[in-house]
Amino acid sequence: MAGRREFLQFLATAGLAGFDLGSRRSLAHADGTTAYHLPHFGNVSLLHYTDAHAQLLPLWFREPSVNLGLGDWSGRPPHLTGERFLAFNGIKPGTAEAYALTCLDFEAAARTYGKVGGYAHLATLVKQLRATRPGALLLDGGDTWQGSATSLWTRAGDMVAAQLELGVDVMTAHWEFTYGMERVLELIEGPMKGRIDFVAQNVVDNDFGDPVFRPYTLREQNGVVVAVLGQAFPYTPIANPRHLVPNWTFGIQEERLQAQIDAARAEGATVVVLLSHNGMDVDLKLAARVRGLDAILGGHTHDGVPKPMEVRNPGGVTLVTNAGSHGKFLGVLDFEVRDGKVRGTQYRLLPVFAELLPADPAMQTLIDAQRAPFLQKLAEPLATSEGLLYRRGNFGGTFDQVILDALMAVQDTEIAFSPGFRWGGSLLPGETLTRERLLDMTAITYPAVTVNEFTGERLKAILEDVADNLFNPDPYYQQGGDMVRVGGLTYTCEPGAASGARISNLRLKGTPIDAAGRYKVAGWASVGENVEGPPVWEVVEQYLKAHQTLATPNLNMPELRGVDGNPGLA
Ligand SMILES: [Zn+2]
Repeated sequence: MAGRREFLQFLATAGLAGFDLGSRRSLAHADGTTAYHLPHFGNVSLLHYTDAHAQLLPLWFREPSVNLGLGDWSGRPPHLTGERFLAFNGIKPGTAEAYALTCLDFEAAARTYGKVGGYAHLATLVKQLRATRPGALLLDGGDTWQGSATSLWTRAGDMVAAQLELGVDVMTAHWEFTYGMERVLELIEGPMKGRIDFVAQNVVDNDFGDPVFRPYTLREQNGVVVAVLGQAFPYTPIANPRHLVPNWTFGIQEERLQAQIDAARAEGATVVVLLSHNGMDVDLKLAARVRGLDAILGGHTHDGVPKPMEVRNPGGVTLVTNAGSHGKFLGVLDFEVRDGKVRGTQYRLLPVFAELLPADPAMQTLIDAQRAPFLQKLAEPLATSEGLLYRRGNFGGTFDQVILDALMAVQDTEIAFSPGFRWGGSLLPGETLTRERLLDMTAITYPAVTVNEFTGERLKAILEDVADNLFNPDPYYQQGGDMVRVGGLTYTCEPGAASGARISNLRLKGTPIDAAGRYKVAGWASVGENVEGPPVWEVVEQYLKAHQTLATPNLNMPELRGVDGNPGLA
């Protein structure tokens, strides 16, 4: 890997390998700043980011080393990690792009290439692209309002302010719903009204099946009518508490979607896209079953996919993309439209390198103002981490392990469960773990820690259930996040086995779990109603303050079977 100085020099002279950042001249501006130069293409442009998870500032984010695809889904995007990812996408190891898209040499690469994302840096990129693409629409795929202390404490007020400043035109949603129906409607009808179109064709009210939100919005761009349909996360009331959205029904609803696509075309739309929060596998299946979508701009599964998948269906071909997470990437989809038809497309997934894109002053001012009331509380140091802390991955991350270790220690149990959330940044070795970094991993509206007693049989059933939500061969049954993280308990997992037969060999301290025995389990983020307990960040904070220096936690990974050589295993 090139050194940091070489990287900065490289940026200033040649641009980033692998995605064309243009000529030396376009990079070297008179004011000394550098610019991403993406050759202009066509007459309709969509800028897309998704799953920002309320990260207003640049951060570290390690991509997963484990993202298994099974059967037909093995070895194809998004189920590629590490070197297999690079080979598939033709990316050279050790480059800035490899750093953005994979977990390889993460710590060294992070120290070389710097932090990613941040709304002030994203804003600069959006402005640069809008300057060369007049009328371009900015689409936000959802999971924007949740994932930080400030978003939780302002009930997404900080994020809506940032979205407005960024110039988001259209959004759909998932975690947004965890603020409850009233707050969602209050923001849509309040600050967003007339400025950001909230679209979700698959959310209807329980009583009469009436649409709750606009199914799509029509925008004219250089004389071409563009329809953006919205698809909210279809499993919101399963993966998150149903009691937060009691009057609304979600789901995939293919026929309804087809009717909306046809209606948008009948209204004169030449370009029709779906802004989706389905997750990549669900989008790939959906794209093969509906007609008339030029593209699905997807999110939820946080996959940075540099090349769109081309999916055939009875209506032609639909491009399927997924634009990563945490503000790390901006997808740019350009269409060449002539004589009422799409004649060509160009797609680029641009990593947002904070050091390459100067902060937009207006956005930085806004972010500083939003954070000002909370700075002291956010900055409180809780511990120093000796090892790399991260979350993302099918089975577990070191930051989750810290949470599990804290739950078991503070709640005095031998077993703990922590949800397989995909959001949350990373912490480099030696960094101070502040309260803000802890909230980045835990800030949700249902944070109660509980201790439950489960039989051995029930423990297995819970693991089987979550595994089926992750590894069911039919994407329409993939209804949650990654595998539940487990502390204390060890087990064997065969992802490719049949439903109910994936989990075996459950043990506690080497002793087999007794199906009829009873075990105390600490956990958090129950989707049940009226769950009482201290918020998880308080419990973990107590543990961190007692430790001060945090040794690299021992990752409790299950023994995996039947996945040797899987391209999703780096
Ligand atoms: Zn999501």
